[in-house]
Amino acid sequence: MIAVYGAIEIMVQNYDVVVCGAGPSGAIAAAEAARSGLKVALIEKQFLPRHKTCGGGMPMAMQTILRDLAPQAFVESEVAYMRHTWNFDDAHLGSINPPGSGEQLGLWMVQRSIFDNALAERAMQAGAELRDGLALRSLDIEADGVIVRAEGIKTGSEFLAKARYVIGADGANGVTVKSTRLRQDRAIAIALEVEHPHRWGDGHTELRPDVAHLEYGAVKRGYGWIFPKADHLNIGAGVFRPNQKDARGDRTIRAELQQTIFAYMDALGVTYDRNTLKFHGHPLPTWSGKETLHEGRILLVGDAAGLINPLFGDGILHAVKSGLIAAQCLSEDAADQYTDRIHDEFAANFDAALNLAKIFYQWTGVCYKYGVKYEQSTRIATQLLYGELSFTNMKDRAIGRLKRSVGANFFPAFS
Ligand SMILES: Cc1cc2nc3c(=O)[nH]c(=O)nc-3n(C[C@H](O)[C@H](O)[C@H](O)COP(=O)(O)OP(=O)(O)OC[C@H]3O[C@@H](n4cnc5c(N)ncnc54)[C@H](O)[C@@H]3O)c2cc1C
Repeated sequence: MIAVYGAIEIMVQNYDVVVCGAGPSGAIAAAEAARSGLKVALIEKQFLPRHKTCGGGMPMAMQTILRDLAPQAFVESEVAYMRHTWNFDDAHLGSINPPGSGEQLGLWMVQRSIFDNALAERAMQAGAELRDGLALRSLDIEADGVIVRAEGIKTGSEFLAKARYVIGADGANGVTVKSTRLRQDRAIAIALEVEHPHRWGDGHTELRPDVAHLEYGAVKRGYGWIFPKADHLNIGAGVFRPNQKDARGDRTIRAELQQTIFAYMDALGVTYDRNTLKFHGHPLPTWSGKETLHEGRILLVGDAAGLINPLFGDGILHAVKSGLIAAQCLSEDAADQYTDRIHDEFAANFDAALNLAKIFYQWTGVCYKYGVKYEQSTRIATQLLYGELSFTNMKDRAIGRLKRSVGANFFPAFS
């Protein structure tokens, strides 16, 4: 089909599905949809591989979803310990696999540029057409499909397609959601990270490739982290439960997070030059309760759907799971079931995580003392990240433990 715009004729490409955004949610959705026989385009604003602001930590449970994709292609280190601190002090080194804990669990640390690129290549191998350097500009909904307009970021050339369905995988700042009436009142957290070259053996003795560092006292209503990668550290901090629902308007947060990152590097003996550190900041759309995530022919996945855990701030596994669910709905001609299926997968668990987040980020010091430093907490946190343990089951146990430790009447919110 050819469409005429002014004096210009543009070829309109036809697809069953156009996936907007080639992060983990989009790449997995595109691969799964193509594998089921649908004609799929995966459009990505940036040229791949591209930097993505992220800590790049994820549970090794991801392997079951990635199946044949070998971890050697993208895993830079495997974490077996978490070193927790309160104001860079009162350290607790927790093992993910304490004696007698059974199945060996762990966390993968990846560079998102490499990981996301591997997923996009896999989508291509499955039959999806990958078009990077192409930014979605608008979606127009028609009775029998969606008109997708995108533009080459270097060439300015126009891409016009008609899709039976669109999967909005374009992240926290995406265009897709703006073409719908969905997610008008989003909860947005903020985080900042730095990637810093590191030689193992330098700095603090517990700066090791198998240790993830987590700091709770330095950031109000959030935490800081140092994640080990092959030849560098990812050092970051985030406010995961900001005072206002959308933290993007708060100009003080960035300075606070930068200060935490400097202090973390100082505390662990990481040398750096303040003038050359490159900070990357990004919003995190966190779960804030059930909401509709599809409208007609448009389905939202991953960050575009607000599927970041409100307690931990992790989103990669949830992005990937939602991408799979979206693709399955389309291959089964069941787009209208998408929101329900997402709620079945995430809602109860994330609602419980949200309740815990309200407690944790208000009484972080007490939770650190009686919760985080508990000998099983690192194992439990990992099981929660895996999805082996649900927040729904954990919530009452965690609150019970805090009540026993500090007295039942101490926190009215716990009753
Ligand atoms: C500082 C920070 C640290 C984090 N650390 C972790 C962590 O350690 N572990 C974890 O699990 N989660 C972490 N997260 C969250 C995680 O990064 C996200 O949840 C995850 O990337 C969501 O994947 P996604 O595919 O939905 O979106 P994204 O990964 O954001 O991908 C969206 C893609 O869409 C593209 N795009 C945007 N607009 C357009 C457009 N107009 N047209 C075409 N393409 C477009 C973007 O370029 C991007 O490639 C962190 C987030 C931040 C900000």
